[in-house]
Amino acid sequence: MNAVEVILPGGLPKNGCIERRARFGLLTGRIEQALIELGLGLDRPGYVTAMLCSALDSIGSQPADAGLIADLCVADRQYLMLRLAAILDGEHMWLKVGCGHCDALLDVELRRCDLPVKEAGQGFPLVTLSVKEWVIDVRVPTGSDQERIGEKSKEEAMKTLLQSCILSVNGEPPGEEFFNNLSEPDIDAIDNALDEASPAVCNQLIVTCPECGREQYAEMDHCVLAGMNGNLFYDEVHTLASHYHWSEAAILDLPQARRRLYLDKINRSAGMTEQGME
Ligand SMILES: [Zn+2]
Repeated sequence: MNAVEVILPGGLPKNGCIERRARFGLLTGRIEQALIELGLGLDRPGYVTAMLCSALDSIGSQPADAGLIADLCVADRQYLMLRLAAILDGEHMWLKVGCGHCDALLDVELRRCDLPVKEAGQGFPLVTLSVKEWVIDVRVPTGSDQERIGEKSKEEAMKTLLQSCILSVNGEPPGEEFFNNLSEPDIDAIDNALDEASPAVCNQLIVTCPECGREQYAEMDHCVLAGMNGNLFYDEVHTLASHYHWSEAAILDLPQARRRLYLDKINRSAGMTEQGME
């Protein structure tokens, strides 16, 4: 597969423009190896940043680095993880769901590219809204904001998020007093305005259980990558190394498609030899 360019549903704000093009590098064994080896000991936002950092070449005209990737909004990062899963594992996927009503296990078939994606609203990533006597300027949360939240409780996390994302209140930087005065409905109003302005990637499907016939929502987690099987990957490297006596470095530099092509040839010639012996 050649390098893949995608259009982000939100985009990276840079110098008054929104850069929406992002480009994945050619998928070589080296990138696959990094994706397989990465992730141990990282928290979730850190994991997404590290994965995208290995796989992405550029965002707009800038080389993609951890800083730029962390500055992307949450939905853009989910979208990129979904596209990366498609590059690694294809568009077709099976979603395994346990029925919430009976004990049945459902296999739901879908195509990653068919999942609806909502583009950002006007003015993204900024939103202005009026709550009580305040005019609040707030920006859509990014990966960096998620990293800052870490393991905090839900309430603390929301407070940290608001402190990062609220840029001004009545034209002034908000002080501690403003945050202490925010009621739950105020916070909900800000949250809803942000949801409206944010892009989104569909992560819920309505499925019908074939056993009990009841409908329910099945949730998907786009930030968990499918199609990464370390055993299979190293088996492939081993087979090529044993057969052609190429170095590990040379095999890892091959694009995935080329590696699979040689493996196919090895398998076919093994099949022919077996037939010849019968
Ligand atoms: Zn059921």
